[in-house]
Amino acid sequence: MFKVSGFKHIVFLILIAAALVSLSVVMYWKHLDSVLAQRERENLFSLNQKLAENFDNLVNSQLQVLSSVGESLEGLPRVENTYGLMSYLSRQKKRNGFELVAFQFPDGKAYFADGSVRNNFLSEEEVSSVYDNKYYVSAPRDVHGNGQEIITAVPVYRKGVKTGVLLSSRLTTFYDKTISKDLPPVFTPWFVTDAGGEIILDRSGAAHDNIINMWQANKSDNAACPADVLQDINQKRGGAVKCSLRGGDYLLAYVPLAYNNWYLLTAHAMTDILHLPQKQLMTAVFLCVSIIIVLGLLLAFIIHVYRQHNQALYRTGFIYHVTGLGNHNYFQFHFPRYAAAFRKNKTPFTLTVVNIRRFKAINDIYGFEQGDKILVHAAEILREEIKEDELLCHSSADRFLILMSCADRAEFDQRIEKILTRIKHFCHDEKLCFDITVETGVYLADEDVPFYIMMDRANMALNSVREKAGQSFAFYNDEYREQIKLITDIESKMNAALAGGQFKVFLQPKYDFQTGRIESAEALVRWQDGQKLIPPDKFIPVFEKNGFVLKLDMFILEETVKLLARRIKEGKRVVPVGVNFSRLHMEDHNFINSVTEILDRYNLPHEPIELEITESIAFDKREIMRDVLDELHARGFTVAMDDFGAGYSSLNILKDLHFDCVKLDKEFLTGGEGNARMRQIIQSTVEMIKKLGCVIVTEGVETKEQVEFLKSIGCDLAQGYVFSRPLPSADFEKLLNDDAARN
Ligand code: C2E
Ligand code: CA
Ligand code: CA
Repeated sequence: MFKVSGFKHIVFLILIAAALVSLSVVMYWKHLDSVLAQRERENLFSLNQKLAENFDNLVNSQLQVLSSVGESLEGLPRVENTYGLMSYLSRQKKRNGFELVAFQFPDGKAYFADGSVRNNFLSEEEVSSVYDNKYYVSAPRDVHGNGQEIITAVPVYRKGVKTGVLLSSRLTTFYDKTISKDLPPVFTPWFVTDAGGEIILDRSGAAHDNIINMWQANKSDNAACPADVLQDINQKRGGAVKCSLRGGDYLLAYVPLAYNNWYLLTAHAMTDILHLPQKQLMTAVFLCVSIIIVLGLLLAFIIHVYRQHNQALYRTGFIYHVTGLGNHNYFQFHFPRYAAAFRKNKTPFTLTVVNIRRFKAINDIYGFEQGDKILVHAAEILREEIKEDELLCHSSADRFLILMSCADRAEFDQRIEKILTRIKHFCHDEKLCFDITVETGVYLADEDVPFYIMMDRANMALNSVREKAGQSFAFYNDEYREQIKLITDIESKMNAALAGGQFKVFLQPKYDFQTGRIESAEALVRWQDGQKLIPPDKFIPVFEKNGFVLKLDMFILEETVKLLARRIKEGKRVVPVGVNFSRLHMEDHNFINSVTEILDRYNLPHEPIELEITESIAFDKREIMRDVLDELHARGFTVAMDDFGAGYSSLNILKDLHFDCVKLDKEFLTGGEGNARMRQIIQSTVEMIKKLGCVIVTEGVETKEQVEFLKSIGCDLAQGYVFSRPLPSADFEKLLNDDAARN
């Protein structure tokens, strides 16, 4: 299982790796590029140097040949013998492979090896340059229609006197061939310029203008090129630079030549030069792209796995499998966002709990499959009925939650009615249709309270629906708020009240119908809160919820025990007293020991204490009850079943569980007076209970008529206002003393 943070780390690392790979490739590329460019520059420069050397050597060797021929001419007896001169020149031409060989006299007449004579073949300027520099190398020119030729010339003296100029020429093609002969067989475009950039020899294959002008025209493309090169050229230095020429990048190498301030240049288009290295670069790029693709695929795979994993988690953690709706966690997770949106838009909204009543029973009767179908049916309707901005979930087995917007109460009522009516009618198939009871509790979110409080309030409203038959939904309202206030109030004071003796025992006598004598009593708690005397209905239910009733019952028992023990000690009459015990005691294994311990502490025999336990506990926890009853009987206690007839009223329980006494609930008796049928039921119930050997106490006897009737059907004891209300213990004792005295 990987966590979100782990996933984020992996993604982060992969992205970092990809970035690093890209960065290093770019850096490597740059490095390679500069290394290669440098190497290319060096290569090209040395190539250039070689070319220049070859060029210089060629010119040099020519001049040397001319010089030595010139020297031998000095030895000729008569240069003026032009015929002899020309045949000599002709031999030299043939021997050295010159294009032409000629001797030009100071008068300007030039005698050629081929026998022709021309006037001022070399201009006066050229001739004086020959004398000044001791050599002459001309720019290429077309001499006799064979192509461009470069003329080289040396001066010839006799006894220190200028006798003329010896000259020869070669075709530029010869130059080309000769100087590139021992170079690699790649096309090496080169050209020779003078120091001013004027092209003298163009072997580049492309017709060039003045090279310096050209660079300057391209200044905007690469201003560094001409500046550097010009500086170098001015200082007779060689070099190699990258230049932009005619919109393309060139590597330009330039080397000064030995003659005429000439330069030999080569210009290679970068694209040509880098052809081979580019391949390496492409390999690097390919490698880089491949790595990035692999990393990308890896990332995609991880994201895919992560998504799937997340989806699975989402399904298990956020979805209620039966209906496919979000579950309680889902609802709780999304709740803040939805609630905030409603609040922001000032839309009134409710938290509505929708509950299928008696869903457990439906499951029991029709089976789980049918139960699931009902849930799916309800979920479908809820899904259809909620709006897009509302939140719905399947919170627990039979419960759905909706965060519902409602413009006003009327609209809300209408929507809820519709939902409930639609859910209510369920058909499994054409034959099997039945009505489901759906109930809802609604909390109108009028306060910005946390989710769990909203839940509590909606649930409270739902519980109130349950208490009222025929009602399908209820709102949480001020009544509940008041109730909660009361509850918190009670809970905040209860401990101090117990310690401060504010709980009082009131005793209500039970009278024998036949003799009219007090036969026993019931201990009933009251809370003396200042001047207020709070009846148990107000606080017992709260204590049953928070468990405080366990302490309180034991306190009432002890107070009762104290009273009875004292009366025994005083030799006064003692009657059995019923003490109420909450259902919560049945969960406590030490319950009977605790009761016994209290009686023993005051040396009170067990018989005067009767434990009153309500019918509903006996119904719910029959097995436990059986053991409890047996144990209590074994210890000499008597036990009464309280509130018989208020709830389930099953005579079967009485058959299973041996109570000593049954207290008929007042509800059971009401309506008995005028109704013959009801009287019949009461009568037969009483008869049957009596047959089981139980004493019958009737509670809430308020009228003489009731007394007469109950007496007539054989009830044993009466507890009711018609005889006496529950009394403070002192009053009760007085009543008991009087009763004892009377009889
Ligand atoms: P309960 O055990 O059924 O007690 C009988 C209730 O009926 C008492 O109400 C009593 O005052 C009332 N009553 C008696 N005669 C009449 C009559 O003629 N007419 C009418 N209308 N009512 C009559 P009370 O004292 O308010 O007690 C209410 C309930 O509170 C009790 O019902 C009992 O369930 C619970 N309770 C009282 N004290 C204790 C206690 O110490 N521990 C526990 N766990 N529950 C107690
Ligand atoms: Ca009772
Ligand atoms: Ca009762």
